[in-house]
Amino acid sequence: MTQPQQDSRKGLILINTGPGKGKTTAALGTGLRAAGCGMKVLMLQFLKGSWHYGELDAVLNFGDNFVLKQLGRGFVKVGGAETDPEDLKMVQDAWTESREAILSGEWDLVILDEINYAIGYGMLDPEVVAKTLLERPEMVHVILTGRNAHPKLVEIADTVTEMREVKHAYQKGILAQRGIEY
Ligand code: ATP
Ligand code: MG
Repeated sequence: MTQPQQDSRKGLILINTGPGKGKTTAALGTGLRAAGCGMKVLMLQFLKGSWHYGELDAVLNFGDNFVLKQLGRGFVKVGGAETDPEDLKMVQDAWTESREAILSGEWDLVILDEINYAIGYGMLDPEVVAKTLLERPEMVHVILTGRNAHPKLVEIADTVTEMREVKHAYQKGILAQRGIEY
């Protein structure tokens, strides 16, 4: 394969969506690849916060070059009037932090994990997210994960991958396994 020229470098918007397993873990894999290339990686997790995922400890080995933060509390009551104001505030704060991180130019890759769920639950406006993505410094890569990616974000993204479920152990009654699911 021909090595791309340096001047062909460009920040991309990527989306990992769909019902199959692998959206977050593929984003982490890309983070690992980027970190190996000397890039600075920030992963901000919307909604997550109650489970202790293996990746939280794994990235500690990268110091300031791969930082992972959980910005939720792990369970959300959703649907119109039932949305808990506390969850709404956490999503808004998570977005404020995401926006600052993307616009700062301090990070080469920013991963907004599960942001598609926050948008799907009506807790975050996709137009606001799209506007920031389009305003970002040219070289910043952004990955958005979660099922049911909003069409507006799919439209502006460069690479969109839909995970398709063929089968999942859960359907056989096998519970989430440490190291694979969390
Ligand atoms: P992963 O974090 O394993 O890459 P994901 O990001 O694609 O999964 P999410 O929608 O964020 O999936 O769901 C998070 C949790 O649900 C993970 O523990 C994941 O393994 C599990 N999961 C993902 N897809 C399925 C599925 N189709 N059926 C049951 N559980 C699933
Ligand atoms: Mg996920």
